Amino acid sequence: MSWALMARDSGTNLLDSLSGIPGLKVKTAEPMARYTTMKIGGPADYFIEAELNTALARALKLLSAHDVRVCLLGKGSNILVSDRGIRGAVIRLGEEFKRASWREEGRASVLAGAAFAMTQLVREAARRGLAGLEFGEGIPGSVGGALYMNAGAYGSEMEKIVERVDGMTSAGEAVVFDRQEMTFSYRDSHLPPGTVVTGVTMRLEKKDPAEVSAKVRELVARRKQSQPAGFPNSGSMFQNPPGDFAGRLIEAAGFKGKRLGDAQISDRHANFIVNHGGARAMEVKQLMDAARAEVKARFGIELVPEVRFWGEW
Ligand code: FAD
Repeated sequence: MSWALMARDSGTNLLDSLSGIPGLKVKTAEPMARYTTMKIGGPADYFIEAELNTALARALKLLSAHDVRVCLLGKGSNILVSDRGIRGAVIRLGEEFKRASWREEGRASVLAGAAFAMTQLVREAARRGLAGLEFGEGIPGSVGGALYMNAGAYGSEMEKIVERVDGMTSAGEAVVFDRQEMTFSYRDSHLPPGTVVTGVTMRLEKKDPAEVSAKVRELVARRKQSQPAGFPNSGSMFQNPPGDFAGRLIEAAGFKGKRLGDAQISDRHANFIVNHGGARAMEVKQLMDAARAEVKARFGIELVPEVRFWGEW
């Protein structure tokens, strides 16, 4: 473990203090490959699971007082963690953040905990005949991650349905953002740095359950046609530049199917990189850098990564 994580206050050991907080599970040197959809990533100094809101607040307060960097993990479907891992703490939200409360009469909405799985929420909404979330089918993230990333697909995104966000500051203080106070852009919610999303209220529309389910099935079929299945990946590696597609540009640059070690630019969709088993983060990054440089050289377009880079590179 790095020296930075050891006690800073006269003899207080941060690990002991964290372990003493009810509702926290704390591990050290935990391999992040276990928690990312790409199955890549070195160890995090501290890996903390917060089962309770109160525990999360106390952990954030303590870590902030010790000046420890915190990475908030959702389902790890949009991050690339370095092979050397993370110097600092990774926090994952547990049980208390996996609940949802539905409002079906009058103005329909759902308040979902940040750790609720998007796909599960989509299916539950469809079963209840509540429309608006269908675009989230096939997005293997959490509600908190989807909000943070302003996740979207097939013409819709979180921005269009969010009413309110509950969260905490990096120091563990409760905060609330109403929709009017928030600014969204493509794959970004522009939350103040360090904000932890704990719950999201989304506006939905009452419809016939069969109609909502049919829409979900249609989007599943469209996704199956275009995306690689079978190998771990992180979805789109780059954002689509205005008016174009990153996958099209990477393919036109001759990079579709390029392989480095066990990392390969998918031969099905060139904006995906798949892990054939033992891929390393550095290989994924090198493939991304090379594809980005060639796209820039050939077409003058600067691709911007969609995936977030975590850890020491
Ligand atoms: P993580 O990957 O864990 O984290 C992503 C970012 O969100 C990190 O910066 C993290 O700190 C932050 N974050 C996560 N939870 C919180 C929280 N509670 N509070 C504050 N910050 C938080 N994305 C799309 O937009 N559209 C798609 O169609 C799509 N398809 C995909 C298909 C596949 C097969 C895969 C693997 C990924 C796809 N993605 C897609 C990318 C990804 O699933 C989304 O970005 C998703 O919203 C990320 O959620 P997560 O919980 O996995 O977040």
